[in-house]
Amino acid sequence: MTMDERDFTSASFYKFLGEHKLMGSRCSSCGALHVPPRPICTDCHGEEMEWEMMGGDGTLLAFTTIHIAPTAMIEAGYRRDNPYCAGIVKLDEGPAISAQILKVDASQPDSIAIGTRLHVAFVQRGEDELQRTFLAFQP
Ligand SMILES: [Zn+2]
Repeated sequence: MTMDERDFTSASFYKFLGEHKLMGSRCSSCGALHVPPRPICTDCHGEEMEWEMMGGDGTLLAFTTIHIAPTAMIEAGYRRDNPYCAGIVKLDEGPAISAQILKVDASQPDSIAIGTRLHVAFVQRGEDELQRTFLAFQP
């Protein structure tokens, strides 16, 4: 299956992440960009989409530090005394996306600054067939 034939779904989005590609869908009608991709444009309800690869650079828009981790993150070693940072990153292309923020000190939230320039990172978690690639960003 070529890139252009993939459905504009979150499943395709994660498949691309596994290939270390951050992909969005561009509406052919109005030019709106959606990341993660959407099969139907939220702006004009158009259904003609094209894949577009993001450059991977962005700016930290908002963040929270998480001490009570969901299961997948507990397995990755995060817990009350080892919190992690989840943020909203505004991509240089425009859309904002939520992702884990790496290489910041989540135990010292005051040390994390809104507006920090970030670059995309692809994190592998899980074993064998359960292995998945997660989206993250880091300074
Ligand atoms: Zn549109």
